[in-house]
Amino acid sequence: MTVEAHKETLEFKAEVSQVLDLVIRSLYSNKEIFLRELISNASDAAEKLRFEALSDGGLYEGDAELRIRVEADKDAGTLTISDNGIGLGRQEMMDTIGSIASSGTRRFVEALSGEQAKDSTLIGQFGVGFYSAYIVADKVTLRSRRAGVGAEHGVCWESDGRGSYTLETVEKTTRGTDVILHLKDDEKEFLDSWRLRSIIGKFSDHIALPVEMRKELYGEEAEAKKDEPPEYEQVNRGTALWMRPKSELTETDYHDFYKHVSHDFAPPLAYAHNRVEGTNEYTTLLYVPKKAPWDLFDREQKHGVKLYVKRVFIMDEADKLMPHYLRFVKGVVDSDDLPLNVSRELLQHNRKIDTIRQANTKRVLGVLETLATEDAENYGAFWDEFGRVIKEGPAEDFANKERLAGLMRFATTHSESNIQRETLDGYLERMQEGQEKIYYITADTAVAARHSPHLEVFRKKGIEVLLLSDRVDEWLMSHLTEYKGKQFQSVAKGDLDLGELAAAEEQEAKDKAAAEHGALLERLKTALGERVEAVRPSTRLVESPACLVVGEYDMSANLARVLKAVGQNTPENKPTLEVNLEHPLLKRLELENDAERFNDLGLILFDQAQLAEGGQLDDPAGFVGRLNALMLKMMAD
Ligand code: ADP
Ligand code: MG
Repeated sequence: MTVEAHKETLEFKAEVSQVLDLVIRSLYSNKEIFLRELISNASDAAEKLRFEALSDGGLYEGDAELRIRVEADKDAGTLTISDNGIGLGRQEMMDTIGSIASSGTRRFVEALSGEQAKDSTLIGQFGVGFYSAYIVADKVTLRSRRAGVGAEHGVCWESDGRGSYTLETVEKTTRGTDVILHLKDDEKEFLDSWRLRSIIGKFSDHIALPVEMRKELYGEEAEAKKDEPPEYEQVNRGTALWMRPKSELTETDYHDFYKHVSHDFAPPLAYAHNRVEGTNEYTTLLYVPKKAPWDLFDREQKHGVKLYVKRVFIMDEADKLMPHYLRFVKGVVDSDDLPLNVSRELLQHNRKIDTIRQANTKRVLGVLETLATEDAENYGAFWDEFGRVIKEGPAEDFANKERLAGLMRFATTHSESNIQRETLDGYLERMQEGQEKIYYITADTAVAARHSPHLEVFRKKGIEVLLLSDRVDEWLMSHLTEYKGKQFQSVAKGDLDLGELAAAEEQEAKDKAAAEHGALLERLKTALGERVEAVRPSTRLVESPACLVVGEYDMSANLARVLKAVGQNTPENKPTLEVNLEHPLLKRLELENDAERFNDLGLILFDQAQLAEGGQLDDPAGFVGRLNALMLKMMAD
């Protein structure tokens, strides 16, 4: 057989060198993870082969014993990680290894901020992948052949990681990939058999594939077998961790496996391991990470649950196994009942999958509830990381609305802190006698919410109000209408009806005031014209002169602002101006006879009300002009 040694030198795609630099610099204190990454790639390659071989058994080339080998050559100073998995063709080599097309590394590049300090903390969130080899090697050679093609279709890739690589067609009899690391002079510790075994034990003990190393022979035995082919022994456990009984597993086992599936450095916050028997049999091992990934709110964000069928890896990022709002959960679902040739399309409409998703959801919510009761501090940290995602839940998952609401944490007027730690159950306990509703306010920031004029009467009466300032809160409140039989009520919407909380005298006083000051209200409405729907006396205000209110079913002013900021059209709902007739400003305004001056003051009142609730003025220059004229007048008087 002749192989045409077609050799070429190619440039790395631009980002590669940049990433290489960064990877090497930031991971220096965590060097050994290169082995985890390379073994993980080898294991992916084996799983891909096993999957493709389901429809084409010929790919096994008569050898279905999948395994990974790690071999050190002290004389050559090389460490080789080889697999008999799917292998790579020439073009694939260019597309994957030469250009950062791979998922983990590419997403890392996209997140590069340029600030090195930040980058090194970021890097832990990615599988940094193949390039981590350059932490310990100054040259890397890959020899690979795709399963099922002739030996003459082997490819050899080689690079010192400095801008270019070579590709050459070679002959390779065995299928799969050998990754040969030419270790740097000061990284020769990675040739030591015990060191390697301990790293493999730490990161790769529970992957579902044997990792083998050459058997160490000593003394006479070594001498006697000198000329025989080497013997290998398995150095990891090599059984899928999730298939082992819970009683045999320690917390460390679970944590180590988490690091393998998530590529995270830190241990998980919590996990749940369950086997379900019956007509739909499956095993799940689900992890809640400590830290949110940087792209949690990216539309493209990948789900973290892998699907296996009878121990065979089927797909990553199986988004049908978890609701979208639990997309940060990592782990494994292994089904005994799904067909092995299951496709993404098939998953869409599969009753078994739906059942698994529902059960997974309940499991994770259960894990979170336990954490919340047993370890409030860690739950608080969880909430800070993932609360905004959990708040997407009620819109997506009607059935678990109430449970989700129970898991939520809020900043409220009950405490001074703007950190979200109060529960709805706590709120219910603190409700006033006669209080029927759970009151909330939405604003841009917790501080703006806390200082809004809309809260004045609530403060006066000692009624607690939820301060909502996450972007998702408007969305949340349009789907969360009640909790344990109590309705939610925005304090900035509709004609404030405090029910039994309002003393009868107050309502009477308000009606009387409206009658007595009808002329003032009329004049204000005329001055403000189309800007407002109406002008009416307020029961909300204590200290402030005025505030704006929208209709019960209108879009809140805060939501309209959020949507405008992202360039969306919003319905033009006119607000109602509510005025505090007790306020000296209004008393003075009532006496103003100069029509032009009355108009100016009316407009200032309106603009101020917008500003006080964190809004933006349509005509800021006009506002400043009117205010300045007023100040000049005052100084002249
Ligand atoms: P990731 O594993 O997140 O995709 P890597 O940088 O680790 O990123 O790997 C890049 C790509 O290179 C992989 O997606 C795969 O296509 C290919 N690859 C790496 N190692 C192997 C291997 N041993 N066998 C086959 N393909 C591999
Ligand atoms: Mg990888």
